Amino acid sequence: MATISTCTIGFPRIGSNREMKKALEAYWAGSNDAQALLQAAAGVEADAWRCQARAGIQLIALDSTLYDHALQERSATGAPAAVPGAAALPVYFAMARGAEGAPACDMSKHFDSNYHHIVPELDEQSEPRPDWSLLLDRVKRGQEAVGRERAVPMVVGPSTLLGLARGSFDRSSLLARLAPAYAQLLRQLAELGVPEVQIHEPILTMSGSEGLAADCAACYAELAAVGLPINIVVAYDDETYKWLVELPVAALSLDFLGVPGAEYGSSTAQHIAKHGFPKSKRLGAGVIDGRGIWADQGQAARLVASLRALLGEEQRIATSTSLQHVPYDLAAEEVPPAGLARPLAFAVQKLGEVVGTAAAVLGAAPGAIPALDLAAFTGAPGGAPRELPADMFRRPEPYAERRPKQVQYPPFPTTTIGSFPQTPAIRRSRLAFKKGRLSQEQYREKMAGEIGLCIGVQEALGLDVLVHGEPERSDMVEYFGLKLGGYHFTEQGWVQSYGSRYVRPPIVTGDISRSGPMTVHEYELAQGLTSKPVKGMLTGPVTILQWSFPRRDATRRQQAEQLALALRDEVADLQAAGCRVDEPALREGLPLKAGRRDEYLRWAVGAFRLATACAMPEVQVVTHLCYSDFADIMPAIEAMDADVLTIENSRSGNEMIAALAGTGYPRDVGPGVYDVHSPVVPTVGWLADRIRSFLEVGLLEGDACRIHVNPDCGLKTRRWEEVLPSLRNMVAAAHLVRAEL
Ligand code: GLN
Ligand code: ZN
Repeated sequence: MATISTCTIGFPRIGSNREMKKALEAYWAGSNDAQALLQAAAGVEADAWRCQARAGIQLIALDSTLYDHALQERSATGAPAAVPGAAALPVYFAMARGAEGAPACDMSKHFDSNYHHIVPELDEQSEPRPDWSLLLDRVKRGQEAVGRERAVPMVVGPSTLLGLARGSFDRSSLLARLAPAYAQLLRQLAELGVPEVQIHEPILTMSGSEGLAADCAACYAELAAVGLPINIVVAYDDETYKWLVELPVAALSLDFLGVPGAEYGSSTAQHIAKHGFPKSKRLGAGVIDGRGIWADQGQAARLVASLRALLGEEQRIATSTSLQHVPYDLAAEEVPPAGLARPLAFAVQKLGEVVGTAAAVLGAAPGAIPALDLAAFTGAPGGAPRELPADMFRRPEPYAERRPKQVQYPPFPTTTIGSFPQTPAIRRSRLAFKKGRLSQEQYREKMAGEIGLCIGVQEALGLDVLVHGEPERSDMVEYFGLKLGGYHFTEQGWVQSYGSRYVRPPIVTGDISRSGPMTVHEYELAQGLTSKPVKGMLTGPVTILQWSFPRRDATRRQQAEQLALALRDEVADLQAAGCRVDEPALREGLPLKAGRRDEYLRWAVGAFRLATACAMPEVQVVTHLCYSDFADIMPAIEAMDADVLTIENSRSGNEMIAALAGTGYPRDVGPGVYDVHSPVVPTVGWLADRIRSFLEVGLLEGDACRIHVNPDCGLKTRRWEEVLPSLRNMVAAAHLVRAEL
């Protein structure tokens, strides 16, 4: 009899003890061969699948990747480069990270998460030459690990693969050509005896994807004809509900919770209450939060009980999105969190919640679980924000008036984004301090030495605007979280940001407050060592929030505002210490729906302004935006009212600075000239061409004194052996082009 069942739609790929990260790094460093890497990866994935089986999950998604799943699928459908079999590993990693003479593929934020995918390079010329052997091998390993009836292959869908590619080209015809490649996969999977296939199509939830409706329906009709049941997973948002449910597939997995703290929550429950759900399909009810770390099985059970009352028996309980966005296991914490308002749940605990919800609903007497009003449920926190006075959001003078009062630079002033290599020695000192082997005093002394080294190096390299190098910061968000009230920290709460890079987002547990200066000591130290300007270095309120696990009982806007007020006090203290330049980073938690973006941008930009508006006209506010597109939100970028905008640029082929030039963006810009994620050292000639290209796109009408030259992002993940020659070449290139003016 059909009844409530359980499934997963993705799981952390790092391993319970960061085995995947370690194996990748060892392979890149040459201390491990390809065989060892693939073996480690197979161990990590099998552990993850067995862990899900032990938890009692019925249908287990066979998630796993060496670097990025979008890259893997792109390769499988006939990319120029091969797939990561042992012999092809170098090509695979060259695409991900770059290699001598071959820059890495572009990287971009994955929907509304903090994960970054490698952008598929596809266009109308792309010829699918499908080779699914790796995926099929994975499925076989999965079947061995958890049994045929439970092992469910997952794959990035054709529409999403196309949607993630950049540029305008005839997607419709390529989709039609991709469909047979996917159909071939489905036939091969059917032969392996899998119960169904999960096709992940988050792109279908984006505004504008309605335009894909007809093409997509045709594509899925072709895939459905293979006869293998398809579960379309569109976790991340839900508004295209009406046409999504019409797609000719067996199951549809939806997100009922949305982004934690987002004012709008998710409208899935409301859509179902209003439009129903087709009897012919199975609903994957994403009721366990895949983005947040708060446990809430009670709410999940109420949701499922209500769905059951409305739709009948056949629900499948799942997480709202892939669990790749949460840490592996709460049990890894040496110090279990105490005194929190609610219990926490990481990926392993969330498996328990999925299974527990099913058991609770099935085991309950009728009416024992109170029903929820589905028509009203969004999962969003309530509460009206307070309105702060408008002048707190305004710098005392407009940009045009204050810019002449700020530092004046030579043409193509050279600078960096903030961090310098986090060396093993730095990490050892931090660990020793944590374990009590170094006193606070001794640790500070060590960090002071590192700051001195950074300043000396930058002086020697001839950089124009210096930074202290951030040795004392393990992470640009965690560092602030540790100093602020209202945060909880984890030891092992690692979440994948991209490839082998993992961050440990701190957890907002209450109202955020600042008890004293957080960065002033290091700033003063650095500025005391040089006569060149040193930038103070803060992480912006939206970035801190986006990279934290927010509360669910307050809106993101409320939490961002609390952070902004704390940072504002820091800006005031830095300024009192004589800080001339200061750099918060703003990242977008931009909603996927166009209709919600204005509201988001209003408060996100507002928070940035609230944090920085107290700066005197003479203080140059520099901001930095990482790997994100913002061509479509230019008015918001300008509304941030920063004096200098530094951006990642080198991987995206001047696309962003062309957009800046196109809209006549009037403020100083620092387009990244080289990729910091790649171990490759750029040459002077190559860098000089990059710098010349900024003039060619007409940036700032060629006002070179306002075009800053900097790497794409911070240098903390690089080694000094890479950083020194790269920066030396960068400065030489800036001087070369300066001389040509
Ligand atoms: N100052 C930070 C660093 O250099 C900025 C990095 C970022 O925005 N991701 O590490
Ligand atoms: Zn960056």
